[in-house]
Amino acid sequence: MVVSYSHEPFTNFKDENNKKEFQEALTYVNTQLGKTYPLVIDGEKVETEEKITSVNPANIKEVIGYVSTVNKDLAEQAMQSALKAFETWKKWKVEHRADILFRAAAIIRRRKHEFSSYLVKEAGKPWNEADADTAEAIDFLEYYARQVLTLKDGSPVQSRDGEYNQYNYIPLGVGIIISPFNFPLAIMAGTAVAAIVTGNTILLKPADATPVVAAKFVEVMEEAGLPKGVLNFIPGATPEIGDYLVEHPKTRFVSFTGSRAVGCRIYERAAKVQPGQKWLKRVIAEMGGKDTVVVDKDADLDLAASSIVYSAFGFAGQKCSAGSRAVVHQDVYDEVLEKAVALTKTLTVGNPEEVSTYMGPVIHEASYNKVLSYIEIGKEEGRLVAGGEADNSTGYFIQPTIFADVDEKARLMQEEIFGPVVAFSKARDFDHMMEIANNTEYALTGALLSNNREHIERAREEFHVGNLYFNRGCTGAIVGYQPFGGFNMSGTDSKAGGPDYLVLHMQAKTTSETF
Ligand code: NAD
Repeated sequence: MVVSYSHEPFTNFKDENNKKEFQEALTYVNTQLGKTYPLVIDGEKVETEEKITSVNPANIKEVIGYVSTVNKDLAEQAMQSALKAFETWKKWKVEHRADILFRAAAIIRRRKHEFSSYLVKEAGKPWNEADADTAEAIDFLEYYARQVLTLKDGSPVQSRDGEYNQYNYIPLGVGIIISPFNFPLAIMAGTAVAAIVTGNTILLKPADATPVVAAKFVEVMEEAGLPKGVLNFIPGATPEIGDYLVEHPKTRFVSFTGSRAVGCRIYERAAKVQPGQKWLKRVIAEMGGKDTVVVDKDADLDLAASSIVYSAFGFAGQKCSAGSRAVVHQDVYDEVLEKAVALTKTLTVGNPEEVSTYMGPVIHEASYNKVLSYIEIGKEEGRLVAGGEADNSTGYFIQPTIFADVDEKARLMQEEIFGPVVAFSKARDFDHMMEIANNTEYALTGALLSNNREHIERAREEFHVGNLYFNRGCTGAIVGYQPFGGFNMSGTDSKAGGPDYLVLHMQAKTTSETF
């Protein structure tokens, strides 16, 4: 009997003991930097000449590790390995597959601060954000291990006299798992293990900026008892190899999390039936966001300001759920803006290895340049009222930035920036607020701050996003509590960490016996 699920608690860093333990883990991880990490194909470690150099975005001279990169031949070997392993893995008892996830969760929990320290170093996450990422990875393992047990006997169907009907879920086949840099542990691990625990075998391609923490996770899965060939680790796949694998006739499904542009490319290419292909590929694509915090005129204005600020600037705005737009009722607009600016000016930006740092760097040079270009656009489209400065002398640091009085259709209000920039727009009334909230092509998360019950109920119907929050910020979904995924161009609404997620990795088979 498995005890019921509850989410992994966050670490309280006000506790001196926790602080000391985390510091020790950071010190340990600092002794591990600069190592090399192989591909893993059919359980074999494969070193390649060409390597990704993973660097610390807060200190670009510091190398986190050197990670082997896959080429086309090795990608094909990984595919063959996954195809072979599928023939045995699909027959494993569901309980035994689930046990591997439970064991992996226990291993990561034991080494929680070590994993979080890799996230601090490789992704530039401040302590609390790194701790939340590790906790979420543990949650995915614990939640999906339990969830698959509820599916092992299928779902009930009716049978007539003299008939025995069954409805069971079986695995799909080989899946390509492609993950983003911003939750380098949680999303990478969650998407990988959901596919594995349901009996599929995978090729796992982590983001190029964060392959070391993924390599550490792959080690854990091996330690937890995952048989060879079930998880093939193929960092460094170029877009060409990505295309090759997406188009491969033996690929059965693709589970992608990342930008809209790459998601749409994958969706389109996976749809084309290739010579020798015997199925229609399934695509799970979770993509970008342009998420809005909406403030009603009778909201708690301090709560509104803090919800805007922490949703916008947590992990330097590099969350798909980041609140990059604030839509505020005209009666309280000036006051909310003033409070948000004042709060933003108290945020500390700097080295994420310091516990006191609120915000670290953005992930890499391309991101730094992109955010700065949006800051220039913002100066044309609005009024710069906080931040705007940046410094790349040691790492990719950008100050938390607020633009006021931005038109609801402006680029700053429509395009995903993926950095610490938030645009404020003024709304006439509640109708206007809902109209602006729904006026992008994305529909991932949103929040409404309001004490008006009628407006809350209207927003529940009219605010068209996958994850809607009332009287809080729009980030921070918890596995098993707030299943996560978006509508429209935010993706296929797979709802990671929710009761319907695993079934996306399976197909249902009906059997009917007459006797
Ligand atoms: P990205 O799209 O640049 O990269 C994501 C992954 O796709 C990486 O591993 C990358 O190497 C790979 N890739 C690139 N081209 C490919 C191709 N042709 N074929 C196969 N794979 C390819 O995204 P990113 O910068 O790593 O992450 C940020 C984006 O992810 C943002 O848009 C954010 O909103 C989104 N995101 C969405 C969710 C969600 O749940 N909706 C969660 C996290 C991040």
